[in-house]
Amino acid sequence: MTFHPDRFFSDALTRLREEGNYRRFADLERRCGQFPRALERCEGTSRDVTVWCSNDYLGMGQHPDVLYAMHRAVDEVGAGAGGTRNISGTTRAHVELEAELAGLHDKEAALLFTSGYVSNWATLGTLGARIPGLVILSDALNHASMIEGIRHSGARKVIWRHNDLADLEAHLAALPAETPKLIAFESVYSMDGDIAPIAEICDLADRYGAMTYLDEVHAVGLYGPRGGGVAEERGLMDRLTVIEGTLGKAFGVMGGYIAASAALVDFIRSFASGFIFTTALPPAVASGALASVRHLKMSQSERAAQKARVSQVRAGLDRLGIPHLDNPSHIIPVMVGDPVKCRYLSDVLMSRHGIYIQPINYPTVPKGTERLRITPSPVHSGTDVAKLLAALGELWSQCQLARVPQAAE
Ligand code: PMP
Repeated sequence: MTFHPDRFFSDALTRLREEGNYRRFADLERRCGQFPRALERCEGTSRDVTVWCSNDYLGMGQHPDVLYAMHRAVDEVGAGAGGTRNISGTTRAHVELEAELAGLHDKEAALLFTSGYVSNWATLGTLGARIPGLVILSDALNHASMIEGIRHSGARKVIWRHNDLADLEAHLAALPAETPKLIAFESVYSMDGDIAPIAEICDLADRYGAMTYLDEVHAVGLYGPRGGGVAEERGLMDRLTVIEGTLGKAFGVMGGYIAASAALVDFIRSFASGFIFTTALPPAVASGALASVRHLKMSQSERAAQKARVSQVRAGLDRLGIPHLDNPSHIIPVMVGDPVKCRYLSDVLMSRHGIYIQPINYPTVPKGTERLRITPSPVHSGTDVAKLLAALGELWSQCQLARVPQAAE
């Protein structure tokens, strides 16, 4: 039978639509200086919306220091890096940013990648492929970039139950003492907003002679007195072999990195194809990220204002009896538990209330745990919060969704 590429593609997409998993992107235009306000374009019309699901957690993507640094860099050095890091693409901004990130995590060195995804994929891929006999013990809820990096490495992978220390220990104990081991996990998990028991995992790593790899993508800039992440907040940075982060979420720009010993960083720099064979980040991006990291190292006001907003939204949801996961982070997953209702809520919030919250459905989260993932930021106002809660309360009644009895008014 002849293979028809386009028929193949459209059949696959039809199946995706039938399963309710076809992704639609909101066509958003962010407006400089007005975040969380944005313009949404839909079927020839446009409307103002308030964004409640951005990973620009602190609004740093529009911070004047960041914008100034980026404008200045474009004026001074131009647009692109002009090459890979090895061939003419390393600029002063890259070098300074790596030094700043190493300092942020109290590590000897840091290495930049074009995204957090690439940093996980390239680093885990390289460690797994190059360390003979390495076994990678991976938390069951690790991000796709870690999973793909481990898979690509060809190393043996052991999956342990999410945040389950007993299960992790059982797996560690079952491995021969001389086997090299790496425990890969995250601090703040993006969809549930729960936080790993980092100290206890490090204790197990010490007991069984394992290295540790911590993804702090949803924590850098947000936690710790200098924005060094949960490991900084808990005084654990020196116990981690590798800390990985992004410059694209709380830092508001783009790019990813690892921070570790000088030897490990030099090893990845020398062997990771995902680092070596790709054009370096534009210097303006590195300059913007540098300004953002430096600002959040000194300033507490964004973190404090964000915490206040998060508490306000949580308290409001409690008053309304709207179920949300009780976690210690800035991520508020409002549990809907039905993909069609989740999509409907999101659509009506947008069309009737000018509130944008992307529905999170399977396969991003397990079936039956569909949710609206809300990320309050310091740039949401008290009025924004009141509008959000009123709209959710109204829709909850309209859709006859269950309320949490003990918290209901
Ligand atoms: N790790 C985790 C846990 C993530 O959630 C993400 C992105 N959502 C990444 C890594 C990738 O980071 P980036 O967006 O910078 O590629």
